[in-house]
Order: sequence, then structure tokens, then C-alpha cells
Amino acid sequence: MSAEVIGSIATLREALARIRRAGGRVGLVPTMGALHAGHARLIEQAVRETDCAVVSIFVNPIQFNDPRDYGQYPRTLVEDAALCGRLGAPIVFAPAGEEMYPRPQQSFVEVQGVTEFLCGQFRPGHFRGVATVVLKLFQIVQPDVAYFGEKDAQQLAVIRRMVSDLNVPLRIVEVATVREHDGLALSSRNRLLSGEERRLAPALYQVLRQAQDRIAAGACDAAAVRREAVAALDERRIRVEYLEIVDPESMQPLERIDAPVRVAAAIWLGVTRLIDNLLCTPPAFEP
Ligand code: AMP
Repeated sequence: MSAEVIGSIATLREALARIRRAGGRVGLVPTMGALHAGHARLIEQAVRETDCAVVSIFVNPIQFNDPRDYGQYPRTLVEDAALCGRLGAPIVFAPAGEEMYPRPQQSFVEVQGVTEFLCGQFRPGHFRGVATVVLKLFQIVQPDVAYFGEKDAQQLAVIRRMVSDLNVPLRIVEVATVREHDGLALSSRNRLLSGEERRLAPALYQVLRQAQDRIAAGACDAAAVRREAVAALDERRIRVEYLEIVDPESMQPLERIDAPVRVAAAIWLGVTRLIDNLLCTPPAFEP
């Protein structure tokens, strides 16, 4: 059975109040839709761990810095609601733009520091839009637990910091990245790739894995690991937006690798931008 699709904040709040009165715990999986097996992993975990998993589907205009990217973002609500129902999530919250932003937004959440680098450098205003819509969703749904993917590691770090700084009363759960057989991280944007671009795309994961192996073998000069990884992508004529080695919590760049780090990258294949990252652990930290 398809999940119930609710577009109105008031209707959603009534439905969730009934669940809470009966002692139920609410889980939230925020998404922009065009759901794939990566989203499904988050939804399955929310279904397992809470009494009512709410999947929000909202292509949030204020986090897009490129109107073309916003316009071409895939939208597949009917299929998405059917998938949520099959996975056991009873409610899809899919508000229209006017429901979320009935007036021009004048209040924004600005998380500093953790947003400065990586995607924050190349997508001005992106994380302000993300943090603002996620806090709005938290206020609307008031979940006990919210689920986010490691695939968007900087986004997760931003949300964790916002929740901590602003005392938002919920638990954040991180879910590991789901990949295709060839290593490509699942993404709603993958369906925009041409055949040739799709063949090139797994190189991103391969290069991150090579960096992970180098770090596991004891490489500790971040600049050297980074140079080698960028060169491997250049060799395949892949346009690198960034490839950096950062502290997993602060998302600030590092010079020496003497604790677990995150190697994170964004590349362009034609007009499609792909991101991915891996947590990399130096030998002294292996269990
Ligand atoms: P999006 O719809 O792209 O905004 O993603 C919604 C949520 O799904 C975010 O928390 C993402 O990190 C997560 N997600 C997206 N792709 C994957 C993936 N391949 N594996 C695990 N989680 C993912």
C-alpha cells in the first residue's frame, strides 16, 4: 500500500499528535525525493527503530544556488510514495513551496565554521538553505529521531552542529553510504548522467579508496595523498571541483593525518555534479 501523502502542516501535526498520544515514537527521514536504494536504507532503519517513520519530500528552493539545477532536479512523487508504503513508512510529508515558504523567508539558520570549506566554498548559501529547511522540518514534525546519510558528510556535520548549538531535542542517526556494484554512490542525480559519464563515474570512488588504502598503510602527509588522488582523476580527464582531507567533525582541512580523517570530493561529469567521501583511518587507529 502506498504511504499517505500529506501536503499540509496542520494535517501532518494532527496525524502525529494521535501517534504521540498513543505513546508512539516518530522518526523523520528528510529527502528531496526521486528515492533510490540509498534513501531506502534510511527509511528501513527509521521503520525498524521508531513507531511512525515520516519521509519528507521537498525540493528546497533556498538551498539551490543554480536555478537550472533546481529546475532539472528529478521529481517522482507517486513512485516515491509507493516505495515508502512498501518499506513500511506510513506518511510522506510533501508540502508545496507555498506551504513551507508562505512569505519570503526572513529568518535563516547560519552554521559557521563547519560550512566554510568543501561544498560550502563552492555553493554559497547552500548550507544556510539546508540548515534552515531542516530546522523547519524538525519544528513541523518534532521527531524523536532523524536519519541522515554519510554520503552527505558535511551536511550531516552541519546538522549535528546545529542540533547541538540550538538544543534541538532529538537524536541524529548516521546511515552508511549505499553504492552500486561498481562503487558509485547512489544519488538522485545519477539518472542525469549520459552513458559515457556513467562509465566514468565510479572513478571517484576508486580514487577515494586508493587514498583510503594509502592512509591505512601509514601515509600521513595530507598534501601528498591529496595530490596523488587529484592526479588520478585528472588522468581520466575528470573535472575536480575539490578533493580535500578534513577533520570528520569540524570539516576543516588537515596537514597531518594522525587520527581518522574524511577524504571528500566533488567532481563534474558534463553538467552533473557528484560528491562522495570516505572515512579513512591511519594504522595506529585500527582496532
Ligand atoms: P537527498 O534526497 O539527496 O537530499 O538525500 C536525502 C538523504 O538521503 C540525505 O540524508 C542523504 O545523505 C541520504 N542519501 C542520499 N544518497 C545516499 C546513499 N547513496 N546512501 C545513503 N544515504 C544517502
